[in-house]
Amino acid sequence: MQTIAVLTSGGDAPGMNAAIRSVVRYGVHKELKVLGIRQGYEGLLNAEIEEMNLSSVADIIHRGGTKLRSARSERFKTPEGLRKALNVINIFNIDGLVVIGGDGSFRGAQVLSENGVPTVGLPGTIDNDLAYTEYTIGFDTAVNTALDAIGKIRDTSTSHGRANIIEVMGRDCGDLALHAGLAGGAESIIVPEIPFDVDRVCNKLLQGRNRGKLHSLIVLAEGAGNAIDLGKQIQEKTGIETRATILGHIQRGGTPTAKDRVMASQMGAKAVELLLEGKESVAVGMRGTKVISMPIKEALALENEMEKETYDLADILSK
Ligand code: ADP
Repeated sequence: MQTIAVLTSGGDAPGMNAAIRSVVRYGVHKELKVLGIRQGYEGLLNAEIEEMNLSSVADIIHRGGTKLRSARSERFKTPEGLRKALNVINIFNIDGLVVIGGDGSFRGAQVLSENGVPTVGLPGTIDNDLAYTEYTIGFDTAVNTALDAIGKIRDTSTSHGRANIIEVMGRDCGDLALHAGLAGGAESIIVPEIPFDVDRVCNKLLQGRNRGKLHSLIVLAEGAGNAIDLGKQIQEKTGIETRATILGHIQRGGTPTAKDRVMASQMGAKAVELLLEGKESVAVGMRGTKVISMPIKEALALENEMEKETYDLADILSK
């Protein structure tokens, strides 16, 4: 193993830069040549590749986004795209590749490894929707961004005695809503994994009002519904003035938290180690504070499980 490359792909996430920095600096420490591929698989097809050194990743650990930029690539999924990608990998003598991204990017990594390119996946997504790992890079920052917004909305919710729905990202995974909702003291948390009953949400809201509660916060995961529609239903059913806020892309940016930076650094170094050990297709993740790894294929086959106990606890505490 002489030359490795790193790319970021799919939806960006805070902490991707810390992961890039770790791969590059740990790679250099192990006397490898490290290449940076710009714009994910699309950049690979276009051979947007540059050699990275210690200085290329200076001053990025604290920055959101990704220095290598990210992209989605439909071309890469075609047989011709794959041929082209393999050709570029060959021309640049890439012996191993680190892919930082979500499940789609991991599928791409799996295809490359099936075609003889040793590949390691690092979980980079705010959604925390990869079942094999307890934690994905960017999740903690996104939770804190959502929490900050919830706190601000709580102020105005109280002033006006309104109900406020806050829609957060997460695709089909409710983790972001659950963690931000629990930490933000939301009355109701609505996630895609658990069917919800709008009447129950309304009853809870009315019970809170009867106890003299001034604010009502409902955190809704994007995969479970639409904040504006839900707001209308709740206003009609309860008569309480309701407002909806869709947090959107602010959750994908911002300076990464310490947790995101530390774990991205640990996982980045592990990715390089695994390539040096001769692993051909492996996903790196976290269990507790331990860095773990498993074949990408197995990692992708696992079903994501809802943190039911945390969900039930949030429900009990939000009375
Ligand atoms: P994420 O990695 O955040 O889940 P996407 O699902 O958009 O984002 O995937 C990112 C890129 O990974 C896609 O644009 C495509 O180039 C590649 N990819 C996704 N699925 C596959 C697949 N089944 N086979 C090959 N490449 C894939």
